[in-house]
Amino acid sequence: MKKPNSKPPSRFWIQVRAFIQCFASYGALTGGICALAWLSTRLEAVPSVQLRPWDLNAEPLVVIDAGHGGHDGGAVAGGTIEKNLTLELALRLRDELTTKGIRVKMTRDTDVFLPLEERAAIANKMEAAAFVSLHLNTSATPEVDGIETYFTEQKTLSAQRAIQAKWGMPTPAVKDQRGRWLAESLQQHVCKITHAADRGIKQRNYVVVSQTQVPSALIECGFLTHETEALKLKKEDYQKLLISGISDGVIQFLKAQQSQPKRGISSLNIAADVPADETEVTAP
Ligand SMILES: [Zn+2]
Repeated sequence: MKKPNSKPPSRFWIQVRAFIQCFASYGALTGGICALAWLSTRLEAVPSVQLRPWDLNAEPLVVIDAGHGGHDGGAVAGGTIEKNLTLELALRLRDELTTKGIRVKMTRDTDVFLPLEERAAIANKMEAAAFVSLHLNTSATPEVDGIETYFTEQKTLSAQRAIQAKWGMPTPAVKDQRGRWLAESLQQHVCKITHAADRGIKQRNYVVVSQTQVPSALIECGFLTHETEALKLKKEDYQKLLISGISDGVIQFLKAQQSQPKRGISSLNIAADVPADETEVTAP
């Protein structure tokens, strides 16, 4: 059968077809560009890489020290033995920090005795990013309550030498203010969340803060001799607040330190700084 229209297309139709093809190509190109632009805005809206909370090669390690233990019960008041409460708090702090991506090493996680020097040695060996020792206070005056945190800027000579070697300081005479900042951060966060009386931060050469080559602080979480505070300290809700404050304090310190690892370490100015007191107070 003869085809109804077998004539070749006229010049006019060729031009129309070329125009349509050109228009279609242009449309596809424009559409493609629009699609890419849309996709890029979507990609911008969704973070492509989830930044980890800690951006160093390894998560920081915090050494938690539950004060006393074994035959050393620490303070005893109102039926509470300090060593039991410090361990309870330390275990809570371990869990809290662990859930926030921080590695934790405990000096003790059972009721055992551990010499103070050994506690400091654990922090040194682990090269901890922070060392936090937990204690409870007592006073001969039953009205005294609140929280206080201890630190020292004057490490023992062996700790100073280790700090000099690690941080490339010119002499072993090293002033270390990292403990002061850790103590400040702990004190500030804990008092804010618990509304406990703020007794401030204090400098004292306790073994666990002076023999440690790492940022160290010792927090007295409240007075067992204050009736109301002692009752609160045994309650789960108050313990959670306390631990939340300590955890926030540690984390804020670690973040500040990570951005500037050498922050707080300087050469000791013998003329301006008080000479190092080698007398150590061993029993917080
Ligand atoms: Zn104690």
